[in-house]
Amino acid sequence: MFDFLLNQEQLKLRDEVREFVKSIPRSMILAMDKDEIQFPKEFLREAGARNLMGCRYPREWGGRGMDWQTTCMVMEEVGVLGYIFACTFGVGAELVCDAIILHGTDQQKERYVKPLLAGEIFAAECLTEPRGGSDFFGTTTTAEERDDHFLINGQKRFIVGGEGADYFLVYAVTDPDAPAHKGISCFIVDRSEGVKSDYLYGLMGCRGGGASRLVFKDVKVPKENLLGTLNQGVAIFNTMMIPERLGTAAMTIGAARPALEVATTYTAKRKAFGRPVADFQGVSFQVAEAATLLDGSRAMIQVTAQAVDAGIHPNRIRRMVSQSKKFVTESCQKAVHNAMQVMGGIGYTNIYPVERIFRDLRLASIWTGTNEVMSMIIANEWYKECLSMKESRLTRDMEEDAAEAHAMDEKIFE
Ligand SMILES: Cc1cc2nc3c(=O)[nH]c(=O)nc-3n(C[C@H](O)[C@H](O)[C@H](O)COP(=O)(O)OP(=O)(O)OC[C@H]3O[C@@H](n4cnc5c(N)ncnc54)[C@H](O)[C@@H]3O)c2cc1C
Repeated sequence: MFDFLLNQEQLKLRDEVREFVKSIPRSMILAMDKDEIQFPKEFLREAGARNLMGCRYPREWGGRGMDWQTTCMVMEEVGVLGYIFACTFGVGAELVCDAIILHGTDQQKERYVKPLLAGEIFAAECLTEPRGGSDFFGTTTTAEERDDHFLINGQKRFIVGGEGADYFLVYAVTDPDAPAHKGISCFIVDRSEGVKSDYLYGLMGCRGGGASRLVFKDVKVPKENLLGTLNQGVAIFNTMMIPERLGTAAMTIGAARPALEVATTYTAKRKAFGRPVADFQGVSFQVAEAATLLDGSRAMIQVTAQAVDAGIHPNRIRRMVSQSKKFVTESCQKAVHNAMQVMGGIGYTNIYPVERIFRDLRLASIWTGTNEVMSMIIANEWYKECLSMKESRLTRDMEEDAAEAHAMDEKIFE
């Protein structure tokens, strides 16, 4: 985030996060990338002990009473360590806890938010199923209402924390006869005998997050673990898409940042044809483009975070958050691509961390809703917004300003 926009309290927190990031041993980063660590509990325990997670939540639940702008700053700084660190930091504290803070009871906050933010327990978010992730409303996991509990059956796929988490936020169908958006509910499910991590995925990057396929077989969930209102899980899903996508975007900037810094230092020293390669515009212009893309991304995150903090209309937020996720992830992927390119062959090796960052960031445009799904949302919201603006006649009708604007016989639409 831009330093000059942060106040003293935010700068203090930024420095605390940077200290934390510096304290993580490189052996942990390397072990994660080698899949030697399945889920980084030590990292999360330490983040909790330093009170760095969930800074926008009220203090009574373990947060710091700050805002979305601050959250994005924290996510960028944690992202510097590696994408999967920011992911495991974010999934529990910024996604699952967000849902419980906004929709949960005080008992749920006491039991599931407070210890998580203190780094004592861990959580995972379960949306995606083997039959598909983009079509959330096609969920087939079911929760049948019984006397004092619900019985959950189904599967969820690619769940970060599938190995490692103590509890799961699970969406399941509770009214199969209702239209999907009126028949899904959300549950807090403790890890128990009926919850089985059935398959641990081998990943291109972002390793060490315990991403697995979870099977829920006759899992008894007490009624007090229903989150929000029965059959209204969609309301929770809608609010969660803010931390899911805005948080992802912010942490992507942090994850890309070291690649640009490494490439800048390298190209300033590396010589070809008797001169530092940074003297060649073919090199320095790629570095310039990467720096511009990262700052452009920060600007987009800043304004979207401000919009969320200001509580503007949810449709507008939906569009801005989706645009941020799409623009920032693609910009950061391009920035890392440039960083590798200007380093030549050595950038492709594990002598420098750029290759790991490149592998990690490939995921950015796939998870938390693919960028195609982001485009679908953006198009949907933009058409509604633009056409209603036109109908309201509040702005100048520029169409009238063409020389032949009134040649109506030429304006054919069918
Ligand atoms: C490492 C990793 C970690 C993950 N962590 C989690 C997690 O913790 N929790 C969780 O719930 N999920 C998680 N996911 C799942 C992730 O969010 C999904 O993979 C993603 O949403 C896409 O779903 P899918 O893989 O089923 O692809 P599909 O939905 O099968 O999509 C396949 C392709 O079709 C395109 N497509 C689908 N519908 C449309 C449409 N209407 N218009 C245009 N194109 C379309 C998609 O963009 C994609 O290119 C993770 C995934 C990975 C790989």
